[in-house]
Amino acid sequence: MSIARTVAPVSIALVLAAGAVALAQQAQPAKELPQPKVITPGAPNHPELAPSDAVVLFDGTSFDAWTKTDGKPVEWTLDNAKAKGSAMTCKPGSGSIMTKQTFGDMQIHIEFATPKADADAGLKSQARGNSGVYIQGRYEVQILDSYQNETYPDGQCGSIYKQHAPLVNVARAPGEWQTYDIIFTAAKFDAAGKKTASPRVTVLHNGVLIQNNSEITGPTGGAMGEDETKPGGLMLQDHGNFVQYRNVWVRKL
Ligand code: MG
Repeated sequence: MSIARTVAPVSIALVLAAGAVALAQQAQPAKELPQPKVITPGAPNHPELAPSDAVVLFDGTSFDAWTKTDGKPVEWTLDNAKAKGSAMTCKPGSGSIMTKQTFGDMQIHIEFATPKADADAGLKSQARGNSGVYIQGRYEVQILDSYQNETYPDGQCGSIYKQHAPLVNVARAPGEWQTYDIIFTAAKFDAAGKKTASPRVTVLHNGVLIQNNSEITGPTGGAMGEDETKPGGLMLQDHGNFVQYRNVWVRKL
């Protein structure tokens, strides 16, 4: 057998083997990792426009997604029911409102404005633009006019009420629109009902990180209930102030 005849089959075998390895390397990740789902982002510079996979809870036109916490119709005010992107206003004394739909892990986008009329209520006050976003109806991300307002830190705007103060105070003045973008991981329980992981929350206030994966130790004051095992709706608090909300949407995670 000549050298040429010996080398040729070995070379072909090597090329084939290398090709098989290359194919395996290409194919393996595709089997193990599903492709990320393609979604359409909100419009640039308009974070209030919900991405395509969001559950839109309030777009300015109706309270269809909401009830009072006793299940009766919402009594808050629609500022301009015909205009998408317009606001709702809390009607003090009418009660907190809650989404009909319940959620577990989720991303929340919500915009709010505290009223100018409360600004003279004091420099260390809980009576200035007080409301709250209650995740699952049980964990309050505080809403307050914290602009030049030195109330107790774990009760300021962006606090997890009486559990975690915000990392910074990035509140805008009353009357100006502000945003919360919230990432929430629900509590976990084993088959026997024992809690194995606390809920966790990350909050961006006006685009700035103010809660960084904060551990929530349990339901906060004013919660709908103490049971943390089930999904829950999003509750917006009536704390006696004319706080406005607009552009509320959730992405289930
Ligand atoms: Mg509150």
